Amino acid sequence: MTRGNPCQLPGMLPNYDPNDSEAGMKILEDLTENVEQIQQRVLEEIITRNARTDYLKGFLDGQFDKQVFKKTVPVVNYEDIKPYIERIANGDSSNIISAEPIIELLTSSGTSGGQPKMMPSTAEDLHRKTFFYNLLVPVMNKYVDGLDEGKAMYLLFVKPETKTPSGLMARPVLTSYYKSNNFKNRPFNRFNVYTSPDETILCSDSKQSMYCQLLCGLVQRQEVLRVGAVFASAFLRAIKFLEHNWKELCSNIRTGHVSDWITDPGCRKVVSLVLNKPKPELADLIEHECNSKSWEGIIKKLWPRTKYIEVIVTGSMAQYVSTLEYYGGGLPLVSTMYASSECYFGINFKPLSKPWDVSYTLIPNMAYFEFLPVKKKNEDGAQYVQCNGVCKENCMEKETEKEDVETVELVDVKLGQYYELVVTTFTGLYRYRVGDILMVTGFHNKAPQFRFVHRRNVVLSIDTDKTSEEDLLKAVTKAKVIVESLGILLIEYTSYADTSSIPGHYVLFWELTSKGNNHLPVLDSKIMEQCCSTVEESLDSVYRRCRRKDNSIGPLEIRVVQHGTFDALMDFCVSQGSSVNQYKTPRCIKSGEAINILGSRVVARFFSQKAPFWEPV
Ligand code: AMP
Repeated sequence: MTRGNPCQLPGMLPNYDPNDSEAGMKILEDLTENVEQIQQRVLEEIITRNARTDYLKGFLDGQFDKQVFKKTVPVVNYEDIKPYIERIANGDSSNIISAEPIIELLTSSGTSGGQPKMMPSTAEDLHRKTFFYNLLVPVMNKYVDGLDEGKAMYLLFVKPETKTPSGLMARPVLTSYYKSNNFKNRPFNRFNVYTSPDETILCSDSKQSMYCQLLCGLVQRQEVLRVGAVFASAFLRAIKFLEHNWKELCSNIRTGHVSDWITDPGCRKVVSLVLNKPKPELADLIEHECNSKSWEGIIKKLWPRTKYIEVIVTGSMAQYVSTLEYYGGGLPLVSTMYASSECYFGINFKPLSKPWDVSYTLIPNMAYFEFLPVKKKNEDGAQYVQCNGVCKENCMEKETEKEDVETVELVDVKLGQYYELVVTTFTGLYRYRVGDILMVTGFHNKAPQFRFVHRRNVVLSIDTDKTSEEDLLKAVTKAKVIVESLGILLIEYTSYADTSSIPGHYVLFWELTSKGNNHLPVLDSKIMEQCCSTVEESLDSVYRRCRRKDNSIGPLEIRVVQHGTFDALMDFCVSQGSSVNQYKTPRCIKSGEAINILGSRVVARFFSQKAPFWEPV
């Protein structure tokens, strides 16, 4: 690894020409061969730069030593560092945690007190992300030929942003990246030419953005070699949008005139250029495909040269695999990377592997990585089971308590073991628990590879929302007060993420009884709808944003079930190996059989009638 490069970046980011795939692969080989040395240097560099920050000074007491760092700096959760982040948001100098100036705060989809967590970001970090993105290209080129002979239809979006009291921008990590010069002024890379002009990606009106990106993608259909979005949920939303809007899109293509409701000047200008002139034959062709009764394989029909669909389908996104396979008609689903607002972590070195076989190799110059071994909750040796990408109920890990913290380093993780990821970043996070549970599946050179198992404490997720059992309990508790005031008791509840239609929605199964006579009460639909809305109003701000602003989650549903349904659920769980003594009603159901048990006993269904309140923080 060479030190220094023209951008004055630290030596941890080697410089090379991103068009040169061989050079990219060589760098990846170097990085994965020298994991131990690189990790040591990363930690050294982070400590040397930041030892004088208020945060580290308190623990290191002027020492720059790695052993002292690991002995004295605690492993923390967001709540531990929140006061520092809030001070920065309110105008304190960013050097309380980072020697490099913090230029913005990245709002994560994880929440704290109902609001998004905010992660520090520096100018240098944008270069680190660019370096990471560039490395995805040679990996793809290794498996798929000719990606420089056409374009990528990536549907990328920006989300609302706000300013903190001190004037720092607070926005999601991808919005921050797409709005940065690193993205906007990116050098031409022949392997990475998008059908979406930047103006359509950067348009803050998500409907106009979606419409224009699809229009550009359709017009350039013969050039498209791959399609995708960041997450599977976003790509499926685009297909649904197409289902609703293909007639208008075709009419624009036929006439060469962009619909009048596209008022964003940037979008209008670039889309008109792409449209160029009336294309009636192209419109006929697209209309013919979209008009067909079944949309099975529609991606291949509309974009016939497509080689794969690039979307993350691991973790909570695994629930969309079958729907994507339906629309994709067998096209490979490619999850290229694993990243977060805190840090970009890993790359999938075998991008064509099946969704359930995907592993990510952590890139050792991104951050200093540590791992908390994860213990199982049930002591009877139950194993984690991949079930639609999420762990089966009743086999969650035991929360690793702060007291037992004993981390292992990246080079010391063991094959087959489960760990929670802990990061020390270049941006001011020290020994920070990300909350993701990973399993070691193998090694690329000396770099371990990890399967994403699940996120700690998350039971429900449709899009980027992450609802924990505790969030759900709080929301249900608020809603049940409404029925209680009418003499109705909520005896049991559970939930599941229904993604059988797009967008998916949360479903709550409620077993209710009348106080006193133990009968199923007569239910007033207005009251029950109010319960649905109350649950939604009580969920965190990411849920409410997805539901209200992004329309990426549908109205929440309560399904009232017959008496005895939860006994039947218990019988089923016990038949599957749960111990009768320790049985607790799972607050979220993932297994198809369990869903059927509940589903077959539903007596009434109610939906939320209004989207919950949401505004940027
Ligand atoms: P955010 O904080 O909103 O940036 O979300 C980051 C989180 O999304 C990660 O910590 C993971 O829980 C999840 N995530 C990101 N990439 C992947 C992936 N490739 N597979 C599964 N989960 C992912």
